[in-house]
Amino acid sequence: CGIVGYIGHRNAYDVVINGLKRLEYRGYDSAGIALYDGEALKVCKTKGKVVHLEKKVQESITSNGSIGIGHTRWATHGEPNDVNSHPHLSNSGNLAIIHNGIIENYDALRKELKKRGYTFQSDTDTEVLVNLIEDVIKNEGVKLGKAVQIALNQTVGAYAIAVFDKRKPDEIVVARLGSPLAIGIGDNEYFIASDASPFIAYTNNAIYLEDGEMAVVRQGKEVKVRKILNDSEVDAYVHELQL
Ligand code: GLU
Repeated sequence: CGIVGYIGHRNAYDVVINGLKRLEYRGYDSAGIALYDGEALKVCKTKGKVVHLEKKVQESITSNGSIGIGHTRWATHGEPNDVNSHPHLSNSGNLAIIHNGIIENYDALRKELKKRGYTFQSDTDTEVLVNLIEDVIKNEGVKLGKAVQIALNQTVGAYAIAVFDKRKPDEIVVARLGSPLAIGIGDNEYFIASDASPFIAYTNNAIYLEDGEMAVVRQGKEVKVRKILNDSEVDAYVHELQL
């Protein structure tokens, strides 16, 4: 169970795949990646190892994209298979999410979303969360960061998540409660990962989110960390990693 994300000027595919390999030690049963290349949101995921994912990925997904997220899954809800692997997309196809952890009240949330017309492809708790975020955006007309915050305040559980919207491909929203999440700060580029190993080759500056914190990671902007519960701003400490 690991997460990786990238936004910047490099080929996101390379950063994310290599990052996933660095996180293999954490253990996992499936792997997947989502990239936006300026035209389409491309997703590839598979049961098995990151090398299987690399084989499965078509040439088209490897080029051009400079925003992407990747995941190694340790199944908790839904058997390990291709469909249950992350990333998961929202019903509109606009949002892509990766998640480590467990959404305990996913069943009640799924029933509620089903009543509102949402459909689910996987058996995961994670697909419920991404559609809950989509539902908040639609109903409340708020931006992604705010929607993630409102949605998370309706969940019970544990998570490290990274989510982005293909209609706004210059930002990734991240949040943490119970599962680790680090943000690597480069030169006009950002890295997201379960620990610093996926990005230590690129930068030695990192923010480690604490439990109950979230951040909107936007290209060209300083990272602002906030409390999920009450939106208050946190004075996040930028660590200098030892190279
Ligand atoms: N609960 C999620 C799932 O089963 C995430 C598992 C994980 O931490 O990898 O898909």
